[in-house]
Amino acid sequence: MSRVYNFSAGPAVLPEEVLREAAEEMLDYRGTGMSVMEMSHRSKAYDKIIKDAEADLRELMGIPENYKVLFLQGGASTQFAAIPMNLMKNKVADYIVTGQWAKKAYQEAQKYGTANKIASSEDETFSYIPDCSDLPISENADYVYICENNTIYGTKFKTLPNTKGKTLVADVSSCFLSEPVDVEKYGLIYGGVQKNIGPAGVAIVIIREDLITEDTLPGTPTMLKYKTHADADSLYNTPPAYGIYICGKVFQWLKKKGGLAAMKQYNEEKAKILYDFLDSSSLFKGIVRKEDRSLMNVPFVTGNEELDAKFVKEAKEAGLENLKGHRSVGGMRASIYNAMPKEGVEALVAFMKKFEKENL
Ligand SMILES: *Cc1c(COP(=O)(O)O)cnc(C)c1O
Repeated sequence: MSRVYNFSAGPAVLPEEVLREAAEEMLDYRGTGMSVMEMSHRSKAYDKIIKDAEADLRELMGIPENYKVLFLQGGASTQFAAIPMNLMKNKVADYIVTGQWAKKAYQEAQKYGTANKIASSEDETFSYIPDCSDLPISENADYVYICENNTIYGTKFKTLPNTKGKTLVADVSSCFLSEPVDVEKYGLIYGGVQKNIGPAGVAIVIIREDLITEDTLPGTPTMLKYKTHADADSLYNTPPAYGIYICGKVFQWLKKKGGLAAMKQYNEEKAKILYDFLDSSSLFKGIVRKEDRSLMNVPFVTGNEELDAKFVKEAKEAGLENLKGHRSVGGMRASIYNAMPKEGVEALVAFMKKFEKENL
């Protein structure tokens, strides 16, 4: 068996300890004589798995009592519709468009009410975060929406927008649990877990209780109402049971690592190795405004498409996989999520140095 360093943007690298533990428990989960995959979601064993997962997530993020944690299906993209359907009481929402995922959410919201694009960085291929200190927030906006870390472009909000008292909604898919978070600053935090937490198939929504009401837009499907899942502790129907089990193991792993403050420090160390090299390289360069750089997704280019392709190919041969940039940006992208060890980033930079020597 040999594992590669996997720089995929998602589904992405998971902690090896977690995968080993899951493998050990595959055929017989702790004396139940069955796999978690084969287990009723109403069983005692599973009840403990999902309750422990929620408790550990609450501890890691410091989620206050008046917020619900929902484990849902449909990926992050289903939330693009669920959010307006549940929160658009006045049928008005303001969107800050900093990349394709924010744009998709903005476009989806237009189906349900008035979605205003109050800021955007599309003019420069989403390579920066716009100034959000004094935006024209709509007086009757039900919420202000951001994508906090832009997976494709490698930008991150370092300060949250001034929402002028309106509810903040954030897609944190690609920065979930990468650093401490002040949950109370948000009305709703959500993300697909396949970037930084677990296997595809689970979306986590953390929502302040007063935002969970019966008063959803007419026609909102039962399965898209937050109240349905909040009232049933995420067991209204069969949840993505195995995925939640793996997420729970990752939460445990994060706690063992020292929690989110320790994770942030580790992620900063890792990102610095790569960014410092990019800043000094005469072949490779980063494409994001420095102050907006993500700790999780690092896009870079050589400026020559053929050389980019050669790099991706040779890196793969050297055991550094999935470095091709998103088709809308080109070049390369290294996603260095929580589970990417520092050794992986060091190996990448060593390979880049070698490639630079050979190709300059
Ligand atoms: C990947 C991604 C999504 C889409 O997630 P799905 O689970 O595939 O729907 C949305 N937002 C961000 C920030 C992402 O990185």
